[in-house]
Amino acid sequence: MSAVVSGGIPLRRYHSFALSVKAEILLLPSQEEAVPEAASQATYIIGEGSNILPLGNLPAVLSTRYLRGYQVLKEENDTVVVEIAAGENWDGWVRFCIAQGWHGLENLAAIPGSVGAAVVQNIGAYGVELAPFLLSVYGWNRRIEAWQDIPADACRLGYRHSLFQEEAWRDQFVITRVTLRLSKRFEPVLTYPDVLARIDPTQQHDPWHVYETIRAIRSEKLPAEGSAGSFFKNPILSLSELRTLQKKAPEVPFHPQPDGKFKVSAAWLIDRAGLKGHRIGNALVHPRQPLVLVNTGSATPDELWSLAQHVRDTVMEKWGIPLEMEVRPLFPHPSKP
Ligand SMILES: Cc1cc2nc3c(=O)[nH]c(=O)nc-3n(C[C@H](O)[C@H](O)[C@H](O)COP(=O)(O)OP(=O)(O)OC[C@H]3O[C@@H](n4cnc5c(N)ncnc54)[C@H](O)[C@@H]3O)c2cc1C
Repeated sequence: MSAVVSGGIPLRRYHSFALSVKAEILLLPSQEEAVPEAASQATYIIGEGSNILPLGNLPAVLSTRYLRGYQVLKEENDTVVVEIAAGENWDGWVRFCIAQGWHGLENLAAIPGSVGAAVVQNIGAYGVELAPFLLSVYGWNRRIEAWQDIPADACRLGYRHSLFQEEAWRDQFVITRVTLRLSKRFEPVLTYPDVLARIDPTQQHDPWHVYETIRAIRSEKLPAEGSAGSFFKNPILSLSELRTLQKKAPEVPFHPQPDGKFKVSAAWLIDRAGLKGHRIGNALVHPRQPLVLVNTGSATPDELWSLAQHVRDTVMEKWGIPLEMEVRPLFPHPSKP
């Protein structure tokens, strides 16, 4: 079954920036069998819209948010293998897992969006990423008109990156199911200073305590609505690029990466470029979280886009570092379907 709504559908409730934009057609399949037909009409594929920026009225949009359900594929002594429909809400899924005694995802508490997009974006927070839990992804490949099972090691997962963001796959592969392996044993990941500072050591082996602590930290830090979380990725620099940056910015925070590169704080670069609280119309650089751009109520797509360009240009000018967007802009007239 697929609900198809046409004729200028307001998208305000279908994306987290809550902009007053419309879609020509909104395709909302609630069963996997309806996906190929819906996909044949769609220009864009979205989940819950918490990491997109529609830059005006859009052509046909397919959202997988109503594909629901899960099944346990395999129980082992210490682990469980579960297949989850792409439209399940991510945070709901994390809570369900804790209730079942399936662990590993606790630090990914309260990340908005759907299970399918969690793979596309390889979501991460507080020292945990989705990647190590992923076994495979199943979905409809529009290009070859066939269902495909893609093993995790072919998904090219990296820092907020996957195969499904790359041009040949973007909007061409509709993820309908995701298979994860989770642990039956809870081992808290307390590597982040924010988490360590807030956790009650007497309760750190209670997964709900870790979950609730992270949820509380997030709700203090992030705006409740009107954003897509971090707008830009943290730049990954080679040693020589880091040295060059450090000449201008000796105190810039960085974290060494397993591949010998260095992840630099984009929030710091934006903050020290004097952009905290910078506003263009009703679009704002969040005054406490400079990585987050916010629609304060009635921002237009142009205002948010101009603000994003301004942040990018200013950081480039001041630090010589190109910022890459984490949020995906959706253009009214895509060059390719
Ligand atoms: C307040 C806030 C805080 C956030 N914090 C974090 C955080 O801590 N860590 C983090 O990693 N992210 C964070 N995010 C970003 C966001 O939550 C994630 O990127 C999330 O996975 C997006 O899910 P979605 O369903 O809303 O995807 P959408 O925004 O709908 O889509 C995101 C991308 O995935 C593609 N896509 C979506 N569904 C499918 C599908 N079924 N098949 C194929 N492609 C698909 C879309 O084309 C798009 O490219 C935050 C966002 C907000 C608003």
